[in-house]
Amino acid sequence: MSDPRQHIMPVYRPPEEVFEKGEGPYLFTESGTRYLDFIAGIAVNALGHSHPAMVDALKGQAEKLWHTSNMFRVRGAEELADKICRDTFADRVFFTNSGTEAVECAIKSARKYHWANGNEERIDIITFTGAFHGRSLGAINAGGNPNYLQGFGPKLPGFVHLEWGDHDALKAAAAQPTTAAVFVEPVQGEGGVRAMPDACLKGLRELCDEHGILLIYDEVQCGMGRTGKLFAHEWVDGAAPDILCSAKGIGGGFPFGACLTTETVGEHMQPGSHGSTYGGNPLAMAVGNVVWDIISDEDFLAEVRRVSATLTQGLKSLADSHPDKVEAVTGKGLLTGLKMKANPKSLQGVCRDKNLLVGVAGNNVLRLAPPLVITDEHVREATNIMDAALSEWVPE
Ligand SMILES: *Cc1c(COP(=O)(O)O)cnc(C)c1O
Repeated sequence: MSDPRQHIMPVYRPPEEVFEKGEGPYLFTESGTRYLDFIAGIAVNALGHSHPAMVDALKGQAEKLWHTSNMFRVRGAEELADKICRDTFADRVFFTNSGTEAVECAIKSARKYHWANGNEERIDIITFTGAFHGRSLGAINAGGNPNYLQGFGPKLPGFVHLEWGDHDALKAAAAQPTTAAVFVEPVQGEGGVRAMPDACLKGLRELCDEHGILLIYDEVQCGMGRTGKLFAHEWVDGAAPDILCSAKGIGGGFPFGACLTTETVGEHMQPGSHGSTYGGNPLAMAVGNVVWDIISDEDFLAEVRRVSATLTQGLKSLADSHPDKVEAVTGKGLLTGLKMKANPKSLQGVCRDKNLLVGVAGNNVLRLAPPLVITDEHVREATNIMDAALSEWVPE
């Protein structure tokens, strides 16, 4: 029999399981086996699977209108942009279909801002090791990961890649007359679930102000309530960005993203300067409004902070009971994980064999990004499975 995957471009290597249905934090295979989902489509299913309010919103919209393109006004997009600007630093929003496109819009907006202000030499975007910003040519050049650049032609000019934590290099680069912006994830996802210390975010804001350059946050993974604040940078006073990229959790499973800017930046993106056929289409916006209403609620966020503390506690005791295998607990809120002493890829498999789905990230990290709606009971279920998996696991 032929392999049913034979015509899929082989850029992923998924396990055998095929999931058919989801409910809250659980996924079910075609044969009905239940798995606890502690990776949530890589921090996407923020409200779990099949959330009734999201299902209703999508069904209701599907029966009315799917798409008109941005040639016409989209009521849902106007409403969601109002909410976003009410609840965040932002004054302007551009809706996209993915995180990568939010990143592209952010880079273009930063360069356009300087160009419009007569500083067209300011094109360089400063990024850091361990960054991940997506897979377009712009995004892989921003991310700077050599594995993702290999084979795809010359590196693009306009990106300066610095060692994470090298303050001297950062100060020197920020002072260059060609610098446009500093671009960071407040909590790195793919690069190893690594939170930037609060003092550093504040320091970045001050450094950018000092040199008249822009601060861009990639909160595609760490935003939308994942750390217990609506956006992760909100843990730090006085560290608001000029531009922010959101996606993943913002659609809760419906693919869309957003690039948020201040008025000073957004005002220069005039008709013709940017666009998207689907961005902010009625289906995405119907779901997006529901997700935003739920996640932006302060009581919801307080509960995320509470359950995060339970999970962190559970992970710390796992680290204590398996000191030979676990090096540290890492991340922030519900974007967290265990930094391991060896590559955790096979540990991920052992967890899956025990019906727990987890991820991995750079730097030997076993990554957890459960739905934000988990309870203490789900945390207990997950940590019990991880405890058994850690005991059984033999690192390669
Ligand atoms: C996933 C991710 C992206 C890319 O988003 P896509 O929706 O896959 O295009 C960009 N930045 C960060 C931090 C991400 O985690």
